[in-house]
Amino acid sequence: MALSEKTREHLRTLLEGMRQEMLDEVKVQNDRARSEEYVGDLGDYATSDMVAEYAHLFGERLRRRLILIEEALDAIENGDYGLCEECEEPISEKRLQLMPFARFCVRCQSELERRAKMRGETFTDLNHIGYRFPEEPEYD
Ligand SMILES: [Zn+2]
Repeated sequence: MALSEKTREHLRTLLEGMRQEMLDEVKVQNDRARSEEYVGDLGDYATSDMVAEYAHLFGERLRRRLILIEEALDAIENGDYGLCEECEEPISEKRLQLMPFARFCVRCQSELERRAKMRGETFTDLNHIGYRFPEEPEYD
């Protein structure tokens, strides 16, 4: 069953809110990274390395999430929002309410996770579509 116009608009609002929150968060992270560069404790290299690493990984996760959100918003525009990319069945409305950027239905998601685990990998949506961040070293 297709999502009603009302539900779709509600999910669009949710996604736009999430996107805004994340952009704000990215900005805070960037500002923090910048201020640490200048006023950081120069004697404490170990700690500042850890902070930098954390900020990097955190930023990476944010960016992945942002891409999923952007793609979900595009899908709403194109009218193909809410369908599982694996089996093309509609994703349940309950799942979309919790995770409006979901690309797969629960069944396919757990199947993909299971297969990735067998290969010794961690499944993420973006690994699945083969997304690679240019000029980023790979961590996983
Ligand atoms: Zn599916």
